[in-house]
Amino acid sequence: MRALVLEKKGELSLREIDLPQAVGPGDVRIAIHTVGVCGSDVHYYTHGRIGPFVVNAPMVLGHEAAGTIVELGSGVTGLRVGDRVCMEPGVPNLASRATKLGIYNVDPDVTFWATPPVHGVLTSHVVHPAAFTYRLPDNVAFAEGAMVEPFAIGMQAAARARIAPGDVAAVIGAGPIGIMVALAALAGGCSRVFIADFAQEKLAIAGGYAGLYPVNIRQQTLADAVAAHTGGWGADIVFEASGSPKAFGDMFRIVRPGGAVVLIGLPVEPVVFDVPGAISREVRIETVFRYANIFDRALNLIASGKVDLKPLITGVFDFEDSIAAFERAARALPTDVKLQIRMPTAKR
Ligand SMILES: [Zn+2]
Repeated sequence: MRALVLEKKGELSLREIDLPQAVGPGDVRIAIHTVGVCGSDVHYYTHGRIGPFVVNAPMVLGHEAAGTIVELGSGVTGLRVGDRVCMEPGVPNLASRATKLGIYNVDPDVTFWATPPVHGVLTSHVVHPAAFTYRLPDNVAFAEGAMVEPFAIGMQAAARARIAPGDVAAVIGAGPIGIMVALAALAGGCSRVFIADFAQEKLAIAGGYAGLYPVNIRQQTLADAVAAHTGGWGADIVFEASGSPKAFGDMFRIVRPGGAVVLIGLPVEPVVFDVPGAISREVRIETVFRYANIFDRALNLIASGKVDLKPLITGVFDFEDSIAAFERAARALPTDVKLQIRMPTAKR
């Protein structure tokens, strides 16, 4: 099968590769329609590794996908051939202790697309368990279906935050994940969400949403913007979605006493942070690693019309131009939020 293969750090090719296509019991086979380009895909391309995950052999990229079911394995109920679907890319070991606890995202044995050595889905067809495949309602386009995966991370962050209605939140970083965290926080009941970055173009896209208040940190600190709005009290919740060590500098001056900090962005190296600052405000600290039991909720919110992710799609490439898509993503243009790749068989 023809696929976008990361041969090794810095080297991509579009070529034939053998990928398993046997449809086992409980599986479905899916014709891929749209795949989003994720920061992690780009990081494997530019750095060859993320933390302990190292690209040691050619690997197909892509894990944010939507498509159409073309074949059912035995025992599959609730899905049919022809259904438009999106897929949860992480499949846990059902016998693992983490899975039994409902925290399958932290199952050490999870198999996750485009995480070495597991192949991703930038190819024409993929086989996947029906249990991790979700039917798209008619009013949800494939492009939106391929956004469910990153939005699920925003949803997980909002759930970890334990938002109370009317909370004021602040998000550090206006990349795709930062904006999706902010939208999930609004949908989860926040009255106002500040979102900080230095890329004015990204902030302009974020600021297009009612309830999101962009803060350009070249002009004003997020702490100052939040303080001005809250009479110096602070934000109920701070979401860290930049992964930048610098973000940890004044994090505990943004959050209110007794508030929560939710860490989503993954710094490349360990970071130092202000423990006395956190303790003196008795800040609750939460972390987010992917998501569990939340894909269907993310899809429900999109289908309800309460969350419109379409404005975040800033470029669409044909599969044959996949390498160009990755080169553009690697340039990290301030005008880009989410790039997507469409398969040649896909109907527009
Ligand atoms: Zn992703």
